[in-house]
Amino acid sequence: MAQIRIENLRKDFGDFTAVQSSSFTIEDGEFFMLLGPSGCGKTTTLRMMAGLELPTAGEIYIDGEEVGMRRAAERDIAFVFQMFALYPHMNVRGNISYPLKSQGLPRAQIREKVAEVAGILGIEDILDRPVGGLSGGDRQRVALGRAIVRDPKAFFMDEPLGALDAEFREHMAEELRALHDRMGATTVYVTHDQLEAMQMGDKIVVMNHGVVEQFGVPQDIYDWPATKFVADFIGSPPMNVLPFDGGVAEGARSVTLDGVEIGVPTQRAGRAGRLSLGVRPEHVAPDPTSDYRGEVTAVEYLGTTQIVSFATPCGPLKARLSSDQPAAIGDRTGLRFDARTLTLFDEVTGRALL
Ligand code: ATP
Repeated sequence: MAQIRIENLRKDFGDFTAVQSSSFTIEDGEFFMLLGPSGCGKTTTLRMMAGLELPTAGEIYIDGEEVGMRRAAERDIAFVFQMFALYPHMNVRGNISYPLKSQGLPRAQIREKVAEVAGILGIEDILDRPVGGLSGGDRQRVALGRAIVRDPKAFFMDEPLGALDAEFREHMAEELRALHDRMGATTVYVTHDQLEAMQMGDKIVVMNHGVVEQFGVPQDIYDWPATKFVADFIGSPPMNVLPFDGGVAEGARSVTLDGVEIGVPTQRAGRAGRLSLGVRPEHVAPDPTSDYRGEVTAVEYLGTTQIVSFATPCGPLKARLSSDQPAAIGDRTGLRFDARTLTLFDEVTGRALL
C-alpha cells in the first residue's frame, strides 16, 4: 500500500503544456479518480506517476520517497490498461502467473498465489481455458488477476472499462470497487466519465486543459464546485449558471437577479461586477409566490422525475422535478432556489466566491 504525493508536477511536449503545475495527495488505500474531458492531461499525469513519462518539472513521492526520475519497474505499481492485452498463446493460468514466473518465484508458490487471486476474482473454473474465447468481462478479470498477483503497492488504471458496453461496464465497476474494498490497495483510476468517478471514487481530481480545477471527495465537488468548469462538468444535467450584474456585498445573504432578491449562503467577502449564480437542477422548485419567473420550454420525462427547462430573465434553467408535478410547454411560474445550496461564481475568473 502506498501514499502518493504530487507536487507542482508539469509536463511539456515541445511548446505544448499537457500538465501545468499539479499538486494533490492520494492517501494510502484510497480509490482515487483522475477525471476530466479528453485531452485534459489525465493520462499524462498517470504516466508520470507510473514512470512511463518523465516530468518536465515537479515531484512525485511514493511513501515519502521522490521517484520522479525512477524507472517504472522500480516503483512497484501495476498498470491496468484500457486495451488489456493478454498473451493469446497462453491460457488463463499462464497469463496470471506470467509476472511471477518472470520474477523467478518457485512453482509451488506461483500455484498457490494464482489460486488465491483466482478465488478473489471468481475465475477458478476458467484457469485452464485459452484466453481467446473468453467474454469481455472474463478477459478484464484475467487482466486484473495479472495486475494483482504481484501484490504491488498501488494500481494504476487508465479507463479500464472503456472498451465494455454500458451494462457490463456498470457491473465491472461494482466488481472493481468491491475488489478494492477487499484488498485495500491504493488505486489511481483515469476516467472521463463523471458518473463513474462519483460512484467509484473516494476522492476525485478534476482536470481541464492540464490544470487541476478541484480536488476532494465526490460530494464536496458536487455540492461546492470550485469553478464554473467543474459546475458544468459534474452532474447530469449540470449545474445551472445564471449570470447577473451588481456583484455581492461582504456578509450579504442575498443577490439581485433581474430586480428579484435571491437568498444565498452568507458571503465572507464581497465582490463587485458581473457574477453568476450556480444552482443544481434539484434545488429549483416552482413557487407561485416567487417573483423570479420562468416559462417552460421543454419537458423531459425520466420516470419518477422529469427535467423541466425554463427560459428565465438571466438565462435558461433546468429543474429536476417530481413527475407528478404538472408541467407543460408555455406554462409560466415563479421559481424558488434552495438558498443553502447556491454557489456564486466570478464571471471573469470562473472561480467560486468563498
Ligand atoms: P484522453 O482521455 O483523450 O487520453 P487525457 O486527458 O488522458 O485524454 P492526455 O493523453 O494526457 O489527455 O493528453 C494531454 C494532451 O497532451 C493532449 O492534447 C495530447 O494530444 C498531448 N500529448 C499527450 N502525449 C503526447 C506526446 N507524446 N507528444 C505530444 N503531445 C502529447
